[in-house]
Amino acid sequence: MHTELEEKHLKALKTSHTQTLEIINRFDEGVALFTADASPILFNQPFKDYYPALEAPQKFYQEIVLFKQKHRGETFDLKTWLQALHQNKEAPHCQVWLKSSQRETAVPVRLQAYWIDLHTTPHILLIVTDQSLSKQITAQNKLMEASYAGQFVTNSQGYIKQPNHAFCAYTGLSHQALNELTYLDWLKQQVSFKVPFEKVVSSLLREHFWTGEVQIHTTSDSTFYAVLSLSMILDESKNVEHFIGVLQDTTDIRAAQAEIQQLAYFDKLTGLANQTLLNDRIEKTLQDKTSITPYRALYLINLDGFKIINDTFGHTTGDQLLTQVAQKLKQKLPEESMLARLSGGSFAILYTCKTQDLQLAKEDINQYGEQLLDAIDDRYKLEKHSIHSAASIGICTFALNQPVSLDSDQLTRYANMAMHEAKKLGGNQAYLFEDTLIQKAKRRLELIEALNHSELDDEFQIYFQAQVDKDKRIVSAETLLRWVHPKLGAVSPSKFIPVAEEGRQIIKIGLWVLHKAFLQAKAWNTIHRNIRIAINVSPVQFHEQSFIEMIIGLIKFTQVDPKTITLELTEGVLIKNAKLALQKIQHLVSLGFEISIDDFGTGYSSLSYLQRLPIHELKIDKTFINQVPGNIDDEAIVNSIIQLASSKQLKIVAEGVETQQQAQYLINRNPEMVLQGYLFSQPLPAVEFEQELIKSDARHKTA
Ligand code: C2E
Ligand code: CA
Ligand code: CA
Repeated sequence: MHTELEEKHLKALKTSHTQTLEIINRFDEGVALFTADASPILFNQPFKDYYPALEAPQKFYQEIVLFKQKHRGETFDLKTWLQALHQNKEAPHCQVWLKSSQRETAVPVRLQAYWIDLHTTPHILLIVTDQSLSKQITAQNKLMEASYAGQFVTNSQGYIKQPNHAFCAYTGLSHQALNELTYLDWLKQQVSFKVPFEKVVSSLLREHFWTGEVQIHTTSDSTFYAVLSLSMILDESKNVEHFIGVLQDTTDIRAAQAEIQQLAYFDKLTGLANQTLLNDRIEKTLQDKTSITPYRALYLINLDGFKIINDTFGHTTGDQLLTQVAQKLKQKLPEESMLARLSGGSFAILYTCKTQDLQLAKEDINQYGEQLLDAIDDRYKLEKHSIHSAASIGICTFALNQPVSLDSDQLTRYANMAMHEAKKLGGNQAYLFEDTLIQKAKRRLELIEALNHSELDDEFQIYFQAQVDKDKRIVSAETLLRWVHPKLGAVSPSKFIPVAEEGRQIIKIGLWVLHKAFLQAKAWNTIHRNIRIAINVSPVQFHEQSFIEMIIGLIKFTQVDPKTITLELTEGVLIKNAKLALQKIQHLVSLGFEISIDDFGTGYSSLSYLQRLPIHELKIDKTFINQVPGNIDDEAIVNSIIQLASSKQLKIVAEGVETQQQAQYLINRNPEMVLQGYLFSQPLPAVEFEQELIKSDARHKTA
């Protein structure tokens, strides 16, 4: 059985050599004719194309270079292979690599040999077929099939001839159905572009390539996002040979992008915008020069006591509260305004005023602030608890038609400053940012700087303020700190102590005060007479882990008798870590100290803890003394403190006594009361106080 091709060759070779040559030259394949013992006789032009140097048949075997493998140098012996035909007269074929002087790389070729009778003599006919193209196509096909990307190759007319499996799957079209479509038909049927189609075509024509995002509408009515790349392959004479399409499904990538976007710009708990997105929006707003309504406000909303709620009831409860507050705020959010959740118990609203009038805008901004306060100030029914909550709001207003260059950072800081001011004023209120807050903040920074670099012995001093009995005899003194900074001058303790507490410099300063005061108490009690010295102890200092050891160390070092010392603590000390605080107080008392509760009545006024505390004294705050006698409320408070103290047999000190009337009123209520105030003496340096002490003793001796 001969194949069609063989028949063709055989027929051809049955004529004369010249005729034979003429005929074999028409073939695309390389064809060569040999005698039965494999001596070459003729070869056609395509054969010569492989070996241009091949002129005479005598040089044939010197010129021909064939290899068994592409990369290894083992040559293929053509002559022996042809001669072996004697044994088996079948038509053998084999695959070898042909290296010609023309080509740099080896070309895979298929050799086929036939026995033919030519002019009744047997001859050998060799046909050489270039395999490289089909080799490539198979490799390409394999790659295409393995790819997750949809791919197709068209023929020169644009018909989709080789769609891979993935492409059929993506489009929902069968191999056959696609074969009948040109790629343009397919684009029309299933693809929507983000850019005008003309652009795709012009890019294909100009650059022979186009790639971009598309949507694919498949036959099953589903739609997905993909990146489509189209290439146009031209031959040497610039005729279109193929179009190649690659389709990459981006649905997963888009979903991941959306999730990243969600994480990056939105708060997980409430789904509201986060700080980043808010900042983005503020920046955009600030650049907007076209808006006809120029007034905007940034509201910074911070839930009062949120940290305590979180710590006491747990984060789940805290989260529930935040979700409900978010809901309430959403309901109060007008169009064109933006609500964001910042961190912890903080929200923000970027508010757009609907008016062009400055005065009306101001009113509107204030009113909206009040509405927000009203909305939040409520009792919240949570899963396990019912909690009351309210917020402090800082507002910073700005106008888009002003040349001032603000940025989102500054705006947020200003609103934040205002919010802290609202907190300081007791919370559940709104505070409008004003320039003076910047001055305040600057002064605070100056103070922090100064505190960090202060030389205690050079800049600080302790003063003593007399505490007298009903006969004005000095029975004790309160130590009060004075700071004179070389540049800032005298700074009041009510200004710098809160700052030093926050920055914890109070620990070093407080130790210094205790040390100086102990030494002074020791000195006066030794050389003079018995006098009790009261010392203020900051909650920060008191809660230091090593506070008790530090006190014990100081007692040893100064040789002071703790029985001559009163430590003044505020109610606030007992709120935080109550159990540990009680232990510490007990320890101090066991060492001999007396404990006084300073500013009594201003704090949490939960008197129940008093029962458990081994304290010795209550100090009525000067704010109550101020209005006494006269103010019925303050009188009532003072009287109830006096009653409480006597029922517990506590000493009682009234501070801030400025008038004779006040002194008389207090002594009338309780003759045992100790009085302190400008009426008797200002706080004085130790030397001056000592003079006063001597004078007071002299007066009472003569009296
Ligand atoms: P405080 O413990 O309530 O001290 C009483 C304050 O009232 C002192 O203010 C004192 O000078 C002032 N004062 C005394 N008599 C009168 C009066 O008749 N009328 C008026 N209006 N005020 C009077 P100062 O010295 O400015 O201290 C303010 C606060 O600073 C103190 O309040 C105390 O809380 C804190 N402080 C002062 N020295 C120290 C200290 O050494 N350590 C700590 N931790 N805090 C201190
Ligand atoms: Ca005090
Ligand atoms: Ca006080």
